[in-house]
Amino acid sequence: MKNQILKISYLIVAVMLSIGLQAQASGTVVGNGGDPVFEFLRATRESMNATIKYVLNQPEEKEKFCKSDRLSEEQSQFCRDFFFKIGQQILILSSGQKPTEFVLREKPLYVQGPDGKPMSVAARTSLGPEGTIEFHRDSLRTMAPVQVLFLITHEFEHKTVIEGKSISDNERIGPFHSGRELLDAIATSIVSVAKRKGKIGSQFGIRDLFSCEASNGSGNFGAQIVGSRLFQDGNLMTYETSVGSNPMEGSIYFQEDYETILRLKFVITEPNNCGEDSNGRNTVVEIIRSKTMSGGRDETVVSTIVFPDNPICNNKKRLVVSYGQIRFACQYFASEGTTSSPFSTGLKKK
Ligand SMILES: [Zn+2]
Repeated sequence: MKNQILKISYLIVAVMLSIGLQAQASGTVVGNGGDPVFEFLRATRESMNATIKYVLNQPEEKEKFCKSDRLSEEQSQFCRDFFFKIGQQILILSSGQKPTEFVLREKPLYVQGPDGKPMSVAARTSLGPEGTIEFHRDSLRTMAPVQVLFLITHEFEHKTVIEGKSISDNERIGPFHSGRELLDAIATSIVSVAKRKGKIGSQFGIRDLFSCEASNGSGNFGAQIVGSRLFQDGNLMTYETSVGSNPMEGSIYFQEDYETILRLKFVITEPNNCGEDSNGRNTVVEIIRSKTMSGGRDETVVSTIVFPDNPICNNKKRLVVSYGQIRFACQYFASEGTTSSPFSTGLKKK
C-alpha cells in the first residue's frame, strides 16, 4: 500500500506508516465483519502457497526436503518423491481458478481413527479435489501459525490425486505405516522450510486499513493508514483497534510550527465482533497537539469526538474531527489476517 504525500503551501504534511507490522505480512485484503479465525486461515494458506512455490523452484530445497532423523532413508526418499508429485496440484487446488474453500465449524469434528472409532479432529476434508476443508473454530483460535500451517498442508494433501487415488489417513502407503504418517512428514517439512525462510510468523494478527483525508483550509491529501487489532479475550470477539496511539502506529499530522504537530488519533473499542450486543462499542477520535520537549514529547488533546459506533462494523461511517481549519476524516477500508511477529521482526532501528 502506498501513501500519497502532497505538499501543501506553508505546511509540511507527513504520513507515518507503521513500519513494524509490514514485515512478513501475508494475506488477502478482504471486507469487514469477518471472523478473525477465518482471516488467520487465509493468511496461513498464503504462507503455505509461498512455501510450496519456493520449494518447487529451489533445487537445493529439493535435496533436503523430508530429510529427518525420525524417518528412515527409504521413508525420506518416498516422502520427497511424493511431495514433488503433488506440490503443483496443491498450488492449483489452493490458489487456482476455483480454490478449495475453508469452512469454520462451531461443533466438534470427527473422523474415523486408526482403531475404527470416531476421533475428534481440528480439521477434516473429503478425499480428492472436490469439497471444502472444514475447521473446528475452538481448536484453531488458540493455535500458533505453524500449527495451522501443518494442519492445512495435511488437509490439502488429502485433496490431491496420484494414479487415480487420494491418500487416506489409515491405509498403509509405501514404507509408511499409514497415510497419516506420510502426510504429516510432508507437512512437517513444509513447516520447517516456512520457518527457516520467514514465510510464516510466530503469531497471528489482524490489520485494519482506513482511508483518510486531511485538510487544513488551503489543501487536502489522502492516506491509507493501518491499525493493528488488539484482542482482549480468548474468543477473539472483543478488541481494540487504534491509529496514532503510539509511535509504532501509523497516523497523519500537520506541522503547526517547528516543534509542534497536530496529529490524528482514534481508538475503536469493539465488544462483540460486530454482533448485535453492542454494549460498550464506541470510537474516540482526537486531534493531539504534540510538542517536542527536551527528553520527550508533551501531548495535549485539542479536539475529541466520540461515536457510539465501530467503523469496522459499519463501513459507511466517516470518523470526522476538526480543530480550527484542520479537519481529518477517515473511513474503514478493509482488514487482512497476518502471521507477523512484532516481537521478532518489528522495531527495526532507524
Ligand atoms: Zn488426515
